[in-house]
Amino acid sequence: MAAERLALGGVSVTIFDHMPSPARKLLMAGVGGLNLTHNEPLETFLSRYGEARRALEPAITAFPPAALREWCDGLGQPTFVGSSGRVFPKAMKASPLLRAWLRRLDGLGVQLRLRHRWLGWEGDALVFDPAVEPQAGAVVLAMGGASWPRLGSDGAWSGGMAPSLLAPFLPANCGFIAPWSPYMLRHAGTPLKRITLSFAGRTVPGDATLTDAGIEGGPVYALSAAMRDTIASDGVATAMLDLRPDLSLEDLRQRLAVPRRAQSLSTFLRKAGGLSPVSVALLRECAGTPENVAAAIKALPVRLTGTTGLARAISTAGGLRLGALHGLAERGVFAAGEMLDWEAPTGGYLLQAAFSTGYAAGESALAWLQGNPATSPD
Ligand SMILES: Cc1cc2nc3c(=O)[nH]c(=O)nc-3n(C[C@H](O)[C@H](O)[C@H](O)COP(=O)(O)OP(=O)(O)OC[C@H]3O[C@@H](n4cnc5c(N)ncnc54)[C@H](O)[C@@H]3O)c2cc1C
Repeated sequence: MAAERLALGGVSVTIFDHMPSPARKLLMAGVGGLNLTHNEPLETFLSRYGEARRALEPAITAFPPAALREWCDGLGQPTFVGSSGRVFPKAMKASPLLRAWLRRLDGLGVQLRLRHRWLGWEGDALVFDPAVEPQAGAVVLAMGGASWPRLGSDGAWSGGMAPSLLAPFLPANCGFIAPWSPYMLRHAGTPLKRITLSFAGRTVPGDATLTDAGIEGGPVYALSAAMRDTIASDGVATAMLDLRPDLSLEDLRQRLAVPRRAQSLSTFLRKAGGLSPVSVALLRECAGTPENVAAAIKALPVRLTGTTGLARAISTAGGLRLGALHGLAERGVFAAGEMLDWEAPTGGYLLQAAFSTGYAAGESALAWLQGNPATSPD
């Protein structure tokens, strides 16, 4: 995105990427339909970035969700708003958008040099493997976070930066470890449909999935920052599952007040309580044989003892500190995307911030070059 802004401004641009092909993570995001952004009011949208909102707001208001949708239109990839307000390309994948975009960049004269890894600086000179010495009038860094490293963003760029510029990488939108018993492991891979998960005063509806390691899925990702930080400080986070959020406690109590007769408890809970087999297993796992079964179904404590790690997380928190950007800009170095120290939930907020900060970095680099006529862009 930065390359496009610069090239449109008449600057000669070269993109270096250490992978054999570009935008592998964007393509992977396309496997899930490519949730580009969200259609909610801008004020609500901005609130999703938490502490990083102040730093990101200028970039997102300069290139907001509506502008991103127009940009997609311009590439022949119209978008639509899904029932949840999430925005997707009609093609529901990234490859046509990427192909059209690469064609546009090529038409603007942007050079793409693959299999070149940025290692850092020697003085003011950029260091690459294999060695090349581009005479760059301005530099935009956009090397992503550190999750799903096989897609290219492995976080190794942090080795080329002064440690004082960096906040530690942490998994965001990640799964969690719950030390399941062997009995529970039989249900690994099974979805927990239409539950709510609550933590630290927030309740999120959706589907979760039990895994060998613990639990993952939309509601888990949405609460992941708070749960991760609590585990870091207290060693454990206890989230509350409501296995029947569609029923009040009183309704559930009445349903379970009918005589059980010869049925096993599992069969009874499945029939009278409407619980799936995995929900029954989870109830037994997390609550044993509770005195008040209805209350346990409505608020089942799940002990989480760790995240399932950065490599499997959807995104990365930490990275280049937002406060470091000013000092870098004074040297003609700009940065964008997930390599910056911000985090946001899934829902299109990750790609929108990556696009918007890329747009802003391109505009800033252009202004810097124009204000420095002695430096020839190359
Ligand atoms: C499975 C999955 C699904 C996702 N789905 C969505 C979604 O639907 N919606 C959404 O908003 N977000 C989604 N995301 C997140 C989104 O894809 C990222 O936030 C976004 O791609 C970040 O863009 P970026 O340009 O900052 O970094 P990346 O897309 O990670 O690009 C960084 C680039 O830098 C290159 N690079 C890294 N280090 C170096 C180096 N040292 N030298 C040279 N090149 C280097 C990499 O090869 C890569 O090409 C998803 C993520 C995953 C893993």
